[in-house]
Amino acid sequence: MSELMKSWVESANSPETPFPLNNLPYGVFSTSDTAPRCGVAIGDQILDVSALEANGLLSFGGSLSGSSWNAFMALGQDSWARLRQELTTLLEDGAPNRSVVEAHLVPQSHATLHMPFEVIEYTDFYAGRHHATNVGTMFRGAENALPPNWLHIPIGYNGRASSVVVSGTEITRPCGQLKGPDDDAPRFGPSQRFDIELEMGAIIGQPSSGPISVDTAFANIFGYVLLNDWSARDIQAWEYQPLGPFQAKATATTISPWIVTAAALEPFRASTPAREKELLPYLRDTGPMLYDINLEVGLTPDGGRETIVARTNYKEMYYSAAQQLAHHTSCGCPMRVGDLLGSGTISGPEKDNRGSFLEISWGGKEPITLETGEQRSFIEDGDILSLNGAAMGDGYRIGFGPCDGRILPTA
Ligand code: CA
Repeated sequence: MSELMKSWVESANSPETPFPLNNLPYGVFSTSDTAPRCGVAIGDQILDVSALEANGLLSFGGSLSGSSWNAFMALGQDSWARLRQELTTLLEDGAPNRSVVEAHLVPQSHATLHMPFEVIEYTDFYAGRHHATNVGTMFRGAENALPPNWLHIPIGYNGRASSVVVSGTEITRPCGQLKGPDDDAPRFGPSQRFDIELEMGAIIGQPSSGPISVDTAFANIFGYVLLNDWSARDIQAWEYQPLGPFQAKATATTISPWIVTAAALEPFRASTPAREKELLPYLRDTGPMLYDINLEVGLTPDGGRETIVARTNYKEMYYSAAQQLAHHTSCGCPMRVGDLLGSGTISGPEKDNRGSFLEISWGGKEPITLETGEQRSFIEDGDILSLNGAAMGDGYRIGFGPCDGRILPTA
């Protein structure tokens, strides 16, 4: 495990900060004086890299001067490594250009964060074994929990890029067709079983135009965000056969505002679990391509305090993002810079490791009690749902920043 790299930005040296020099995540921010621009989180500050490129301290062909990271991602792996190295040199303890760089630090408390990249297309997977087993048990019984294809294919569906929003965006409870198993006919109304899904999002940083290997897929992933796939279970239950989720998943998907790069996560690589069925050759593991990232879900009721309702880890996934991407391209499907892949809900083996309320409350049958004494089976209006995540190093952490959304009543 690597150690904390010391920065002259003192707040970046705290073991508590999500953004030490080891992290250097990429976001887009604005202040009351400036339009949205590219920045890098360091401690409790943001380094304005668009200004550094404007004054010549960084030089990446103008790709840092826009309001998203897509142009920079398109430059490719050599540029990704060079920017990380140059930022480290500018920000490390004893750096010679400190006074020049310091002028371009903005306190995070003065900044508004925006979508860090333009989502070109969005695909969501169903690749957490504990989640798939829990949901399958509820709907089909323990004997038939996993569909026959599950141990062979990273199952996914094409979602809506337009629905992806940055942390802090309020989410209006969706309406849709609802029909219980005993109802004669569907009705139209607000979802009564509105839920979260705790996921990681992988951001594609290089294009591909045909099938790519798992190794190439791994190299093409620029970085990761926390991802909450808001899900209306009652809409989903009525609409999902035979083509899978549609309106139940199209209201919104919230991501955390900082892209944590694959380079920052490199010391935390972890292996997928033992295979029950051997994977086909194009999907086989060639090395550890998951990451050891602690994840949790918090619920804060209107005016109340937060209860942590789930704790799990990204290494619980059955398929890595690289395997999902390799599978996605296996038919020839082209990928573009800025495509986003949702991992699928990340649950663990224990009851308190469940990454959705569908599982936490076992389909609504076992409501949980919050620290305020209130009970929850699904999300209520006014609730704030928060995902948190961090890879834990020796005296430092690689954090992602908030992934929050407050639920507004149906308009
Ligand atoms: Ca999902």
